[in-house]
Amino acid sequence: MPRDFLQGVRDHYDVVVIGSGLAGLTVANILARHKRHVLLLEQHYKLGGLATWFKRPKGHIFDISLHGFPHGMVKSCRRYWTQEIADSIVQLKNIRFDNPMFSLTTTFNRDDFSRLLVQTFKIDPNTVQAFFDTARKMNFYDDQTTTTRQLFDRFFPGREDVIRLLMEPITYANGSTLEDPAISYGIVFSNFMSKGVFTFQGGTDRLLRLMENELRHNGVDVRIRCNVEKIRVHNGTTAGVLVHGQEIGAEAVVSNGNLKSTILRLVGEDYFDRGFVETAKAVRLNNSSTQVYMALKPGEQIDESTGDLLFSSTAPAFRTELLLSPEITSRTYSFYYPRTRPHRPPRHLIVSSTNARYEDWAFLAEEEYQARKQGLVETTLEAIEKYVPNIRERLDHVEAATPRTFEHYTRHIDGASFGTKFEGLAVSRDVSNQIRGLFHAGSVGIIMSGWLGAMNYGVIVANEVENYLMDRVATF
Ligand SMILES: Cc1cc2nc3c(=O)[nH]c(=O)nc-3n(C[C@H](O)[C@H](O)[C@H](O)COP(=O)(O)OP(=O)(O)OC[C@H]3O[C@@H](n4cnc5c(N)ncnc54)[C@H](O)[C@@H]3O)c2cc1C
Repeated sequence: MPRDFLQGVRDHYDVVVIGSGLAGLTVANILARHKRHVLLLEQHYKLGGLATWFKRPKGHIFDISLHGFPHGMVKSCRRYWTQEIADSIVQLKNIRFDNPMFSLTTTFNRDDFSRLLVQTFKIDPNTVQAFFDTARKMNFYDDQTTTTRQLFDRFFPGREDVIRLLMEPITYANGSTLEDPAISYGIVFSNFMSKGVFTFQGGTDRLLRLMENELRHNGVDVRIRCNVEKIRVHNGTTAGVLVHGQEIGAEAVVSNGNLKSTILRLVGEDYFDRGFVETAKAVRLNNSSTQVYMALKPGEQIDESTGDLLFSSTAPAFRTELLLSPEITSRTYSFYYPRTRPHRPPRHLIVSSTNARYEDWAFLAEEEYQARKQGLVETTLEAIEKYVPNIRERLDHVEAATPRTFEHYTRHIDGASFGTKFEGLAVSRDVSNQIRGLFHAGSVGIIMSGWLGAMNYGVIVANEVENYLMDRVATF
């Protein structure tokens, strides 16, 4: 009975947060610390949104999106979550690239990339320094007309191999392309380059357990399996939400759902200005993904020299359209060694991720869909054989996720893995100007996406909601 999930819920809250992605969780936690009454509603049976996990027989636990994030997460987790969460963030030191242009291993930070660019790629040290300085100085208010391709052409003309080294991981991390604004590349790239790539020791299951404990400790009313059907608006002001047919009032509502579904479905076009609706409709969604999850039998091992993250490709050159093609040539492998979950039985797992287009999967008949999924598993096993020999005999479990899987579990339109393209940010920021007390916090653009971007956007929006609530009291 769906209603049970709302048992004991109050009629009215200061804030209702729709969705428990990292942005939604962070908004809820910060506002609860401000002593606001917060209700967090998640439609899935697990918290975390794309930052979640699942368990399979024999104790295998797979992470969906715990592949790597920048060091900035330490500060955000310490300030807005707990010291224990911040202290569990550890570096992944073994990042590998393997493609027809080059094969190398790096710690993925500025020092090591400078060394590689100068020694291996024979780039003038002054150019390398100028490139890093330019990327680091970029900020959100800069010129948005220069594209990433133009930025690379300025520093590394004709060097497709260098572009591949610099761009491939970022495209994987947030779906950005050479045609996107250079600032979105520069900010994310510099975030990683500051100290390297990091992960959460204990896995996403432990992270979410700690976060849920903290939310409850701070008084957040957390409800899963609660799909919000509508956001209620009266006289241009947010009134609350409709969930499982029940009306719940709120002074403010924060949607962590997909930007376009928040505006066009949860609220509805009629409540916004015409021009705003048109702009929202024109926002492009980011691409989706496929993943193949592989667990080795207990006792089977992968040598740690295989790497933590491996960007592998058989494509002769780096091309965005090739990264999205169903004829997969590029795969990013995340290797999970027993140190990922030191408190659990030792397990070796691999997740292969590939950017993908929703339309290549969405409209297949069930039989064809299942066959295509199986094909994805088979081709992935063939491809990974190079790095993990005899994998088929050593496997305990393998399964695939597609854009349809991501759509199902997050309700994101087209199973978008990284929310919207860059222009979504301005629309997201404008939601609260259209409807008083309504806010959006979630992956928009490249900067506000990924674990760090989503969490930090949650921080920004939580502060805005708090200001809004304080202003309301002052006006009465
Ligand atoms: C395959 C893959 C790999 C990735 N790898 C990385 C990585 O290595 N590093 C990194 O930094 N980032 C990675 N990301 C991106 C990162 O996971 C996301 O950018 C981030 O987790 C998104 O957080 P969010 O707050 O925007 O919300 P989301 O995670 O998108 O969550 C939104 C939540 O809202 C809920 N919701 C939606 N509608 C409703 C409704 N009507 N009622 C109730 N609940 C609703 C959804 O169920 C969901 O839980 C990856 C993403 C994918 C798909």
